This record gives sequence, C-alpha cells and structure tokens, in this order.
Amino acid sequence: MYGEFGYFPTKSTLQLMVKNAGLFSQTQQEISHRLHAAVVKVFRMKQHGKICGFPRFKSFDRMKSLYYPQNDVGFHLSKKLRVNPFGEIAIKKHREIKGSIKTLTLKKEASGKWFAIFCADEPRKQPKPNSGKPVGIDLGLLNFAALSTGEIINNPRHLRRYEQKLAVFQKRRSRKKRKGRNRQKAKLKVARVHERVANSRSDFLHKLSKRLVSNYSLIALERLTSKEMSQQNFGKSINDAGWNMFANMVCYKAEEAGSRVVFVNPIDTTKECSTCGTKTSKSLAERTHACPFCGLSLDRDVNAALVILKRATAGTAGSNASGNETIVSSMKEEAAPFRVQ
Ligand SMILES: [Zn+2]
Repeated sequence: MYGEFGYFPTKSTLQLMVKNAGLFSQTQQEISHRLHAAVVKVFRMKQHGKICGFPRFKSFDRMKSLYYPQNDVGFHLSKKLRVNPFGEIAIKKHREIKGSIKTLTLKKEASGKWFAIFCADEPRKQPKPNSGKPVGIDLGLLNFAALSTGEIINNPRHLRRYEQKLAVFQKRRSRKKRKGRNRQKAKLKVARVHERVANSRSDFLHKLSKRLVSNYSLIALERLTSKEMSQQNFGKSINDAGWNMFANMVCYKAEEAGSRVVFVNPIDTTKECSTCGTKTSKSLAERTHACPFCGLSLDRDVNAALVILKRATAGTAGSNASGNETIVSSMKEEAAPFRVQ
C-alpha cells in the first residue's frame, strides 16, 4: 500500500477498499479498523522514541480472522451456523454455550482448520467454598513445577519431542519452489506439527491448573520474569513450558473455584532457606538445598516453593513482608472455540 502511493491510506480509503471484498459490512469495517489501528500504533511508538519496524504488508494469507460484533446480525447460531455471506456451515460443537452470545470470530489456523469462537456473557457465579490448603509453586526448567507439598510435576517437553519431526518438514518445505503448489502442501505439514505441539501443551496446562485450583485455597506463584529469562538463552525451554499461559489459566480458573492467587517477589527464592531464611548461593547443577545454618536438607525446587508460600502468607498475616504480593482477581471472559467442519 505505502509502496504504491507513498502515503498511508486514511481510514475512509481503507473502508472503500474493503467494500468490494464481498464480506459482511460489519466485518469489513472491523478489518479496516484493525489495519488503521496498526498504522496509528506504529506512529505513536515512534513519537515516544521507541524502536519499531515499518508496518509490514499483510498478504491475504495472513488475514486469519473475521469478526462479527453483534449477535443475530450477520450470523445466527441454531443447529448450524449461518454466516453472512457464506451461508449455512455445519459446525462441530465442543461444548454448549452458556449465557447469551455477544460476538463471533471466525478464525483460520495455520494448519488450515477453521474455528468459530463465540463470546458470551454469563451471569457471574458465586464461587464455591474452597477448603483446601495453601500451596506454593516454583516453576522450573528441569521440572515444570515443584509444589511446597513436595510434589514434583514433570515437564512434558512437547516441543522437544516434535522438534526432529519439525526439522524434517521444515527442510522439505525450504527445498520446494517458492510460491509453488508443493510448497503450500509442505507449509501445511509444518503448521500441523506446530498445532499439535500447541494443543498438547494447552491440554497439559488446562488439566494441571484445574487440579491445582480445586485442591488448594491459596496458590502462591512467583511474579513471572520469563521475559528476562528467555533473553538469557533459556528461550526454548521457557516458551516450551508455557509459564505465562499457565499463570493465566490458574488465575481465571481460581476465581470460579474459590481459590486465591498471590504473586510474590521472585528474588532469591532459590537461595533462601525455607526454615530459617539464611541465604546460600547454589549453582544450577546443585539439586538439593542443604542449609549450613539449620541443617535443613530438601529438594532445591521444593525449598523454593516453600519460600514462595511463606512470602505469600506472611504478607496476608500482616507482618513486615507486605508489599511483596500482588493479588489477581478478575481475568477476561473465556471464549468457547468450535471447530468448523
Ligand atoms: Zn536454614
């Protein structure tokens, strides 16, 4: 766009352009709105002296979703999903929709599958009483997590398992002629592996977070520093582990389960002794915490989990450790994705 005209299109030109795309009017509007917002954002960042790239050209391939902002306007859900201008589509419902539907997003994954995502308003439920104990959780690299109860949760290492497979497919893809049909096919294969990784990761995280919020009334986590850590070459393991995703899930699930989530200051949780508070430094290779002061000997991550729990509960008991915690209560509404057949 910019290359053609030498200036960015205004919102109204963009709207004229999408008008002929043959989509539903409100959907068109949203696309032009999205593009315009992206351009505006770049200029805003430049004004604030932030380093940012030039807005990139988006090929039609990269348009992944269509948005319908109003229920029964442009789409209607009964047994099938009727969507303007595509007509009736058979969908595979993964679960019933609770509450009243507000918006619809049709989303295309890189693997070529289409999903229909409904946002619905649901009357807020009274949280169930939770009689569980408090727990501290140390998220790790060697293991996914250690609980202050002594339980160790192993890392599922999804990406690593699929990595070899991925490498083979990626190599095949790169050998195909650009823009060729075979390249398209190879691209789809790579995307499918990525999708499998993402699916099994989120499945693991959903199950784990569900179990934790229903078993424990208070969950103490470290305030996440994965941004800093992934810059220090731990990248793959951390992203693989999906800490952020996990923390988000725990937060929104906790609300309904009547559990509370507390984020504590992550500094020195591995050095501190959970019994006497003495700080001893350890190398990453040392797997046990052996305190020279009080003689406590414990798995290093379990010790860290105990320290995290201590920080979370000390703050609420009104001692001097306050200021360390952030309590997270409400998270965004959960959307129910449906597979479009
Ligand atoms: Zn000690």
